[in-house]
Order: sequence, then structure tokens, then C-alpha cells
Amino acid sequence: MPHILIVEDEAAIADTLVYALQGEGFATTWLSLGAAALEHQRLTPADLIILDIGLPDISGFETCKQLRRFSEVPVMFLSARDGEIDRVVGLEIGADDYVVKPFSPREVAARVRAILKRVAPRPGIESTSALFQVDSERVLISYRGQPLSLTRHEFRLLQCLLEQPERVFSREQLLDALGVAADAGYERSIDSHIKSVRAKLRLVAANAEPIQTHRGLGYSYSPGHS
Ligand code: CA
Repeated sequence: MPHILIVEDEAAIADTLVYALQGEGFATTWLSLGAAALEHQRLTPADLIILDIGLPDISGFETCKQLRRFSEVPVMFLSARDGEIDRVVGLEIGADDYVVKPFSPREVAARVRAILKRVAPRPGIESTSALFQVDSERVLISYRGQPLSLTRHEFRLLQCLLEQPERVFSREQLLDALGVAADAGYERSIDSHIKSVRAKLRLVAANAEPIQTHRGLGYSYSPGHS
């Protein structure tokens, strides 16, 4: 059952949303502050967030910006009046949709369903494990739900390792995956790319070692150490 987090300080509006969404088979949580919503999403991630722009503590825009630092959850903005939200601005901040008050709760429920359908795993996204998600189309790998900021070479390298868990790749094979000619100097550059990928993974999970070193052989992705 998809879980929808409603962040709205007006109880009457929240009530109609809770009623409409539960009627459509969604589980709901209602909060009235942006900071509380961020905390809630960290601890018990919802599948979609409906976010009012005018909140008493931090605005919905600011909430969404902070949310995007750790979560890719779909966001639908609720706007008090037409013009409060510019569609482009909303999308730049990372929202997936917005509705203007007064709205029809049934329409909101329908849009929620449409967004969830849209973000359901697409063919380009292989879930290599519960912890890594590779989106080849967008050249993006997420680790534990957090998008990694990788260079092209780092992306390709990690993608190659993730494709075949536990397989030990030699430096030469990894260079091949990068499309770089294997000659003496370049083999060492694999080590520095790996080092950089590891540092980025460690920012997400300090104690995990998903990439294992095999002395004299090369590297592997080990799900058991993720
Ligand atoms: Ca409000």
C-alpha cells in the first residue's frame, strides 16, 4: 500500500486529502510543519509527499530543497493561489507536480496515482541490489536512495562492477569497460577512480565496503559488504 505524507498546516484541507487518499487505498500521514516532514521522511520514507507551500515554519519550497539533499521521493506542491508557484521554478526545485487551491481531492488522488505510476521502475533502471539503483539513461547511480555525484568514468566503472556482483574484474577489464586503451600508465588510473568512488560511497555509508580489493587481481562488487 503506497504511503503518502501530507504536509499542510490547515486541518480542513489535510482532512479532505486524507479522506480522498484513504478512499483510494493509500496509507497517509499528516504533518503540519516542514521540519517535521523532513525528519519523518528520514526515519520512515513515504512513497510520495504532498507539500503545502505556505507552512508556518519553513516554506514548502525550502522543505523540498532540503529534502532533495537526501531523497528522490516524488513531491506534489499545494499552492494557495495561482501564480504563487511558477511551474518551472517548482520543477527546478525538484517537484513532480503541483495543484492550486481550491482543488478537488479526487483530482489530487488521481494525480498521485499518475505520479506513482510514472516513477515506478522503468526499463532503463535496473535494481542491482536493494542498495544500488542504476539509471543508465540519466547516467545516475543511487546508493541507499541517495544519488551519487560521479564523473563519467566513475559511473561506468561502478556500473560495470554492479552488473556482476562478486565477479573480480582486472584493471585491464575495467579499462576496457571505460573504453580506454589498456597501456601501462592507465592501469593505475583505475586505482584512483576506485579510490574516488569509494570516498563518495563512504559519504553515504561510512562503514560499508561494497567495492572489494583483490590483491594482484583487481576489484569486485560485494553486496554482502554494502
Ligand atoms: Ca498553508
